[in-house]
Amino acid sequence: MSDFLKSYIRDVPDFPKPGIIFKDITTLLKDPEALAKTGEALLEMARKHQISKVAGIESRGFIFAMYLAERLGAGFVPVRKPGKLPAETYSRQYQLEYGSDTLEVHQDAFEEGDVVLLHDDLLATGGTAEAACHLIESAGGTVVQVSFIIELGFLNGRKRLEGYDVQSVITY
Ligand code: AMP
Repeated sequence: MSDFLKSYIRDVPDFPKPGIIFKDITTLLKDPEALAKTGEALLEMARKHQISKVAGIESRGFIFAMYLAERLGAGFVPVRKPGKLPAETYSRQYQLEYGSDTLEVHQDAFEEGDVVLLHDDLLATGGTAEAACHLIESAGGTVVQVSFIIELGFLNGRKRLEGYDVQSVITY
């Protein structure tokens, strides 16, 4: 299955910066069979938990987070880039290779006892997902699983997500 889905991922060299090989999922999303199989694989991984909210990281994380939320009978929460959410937010800054970035969630996004699945398209160094986990937890949710379509295993990002059930459909 992983090899089948791998064949739908397009490598785009030097995007968005020289030296980065961008893993483009649009070539997977536009194929009905690959799209369905990716959704099923992520859903299967999530079913072992009693998830009450699925949080997706802007913007490619939204795509399957929304699907998973609907299929699991859970709510959906957007984790967004700064300045996008209209109501009161919590925010968390995290370090990138060069500079830093920030993620935000609404202060009322989670309720006491919420069991959260965090989803993003790709795990690289793990900085983004780690920041999102901390953000969700400071907002009152409990993250149990962090899932990705793609994991760049050689970057060892899952080390930064120790303690969570880290799942990915395709690993490089
Ligand atoms: P990181 O925080 O290093 O784990 O980076 C993960 C975030 O950056 C995810 O939201 C990905 O969408 C994006 N990202 C990082 N590296 C790549 C890549 N090679 N191809 C596509 N997206 C990437």
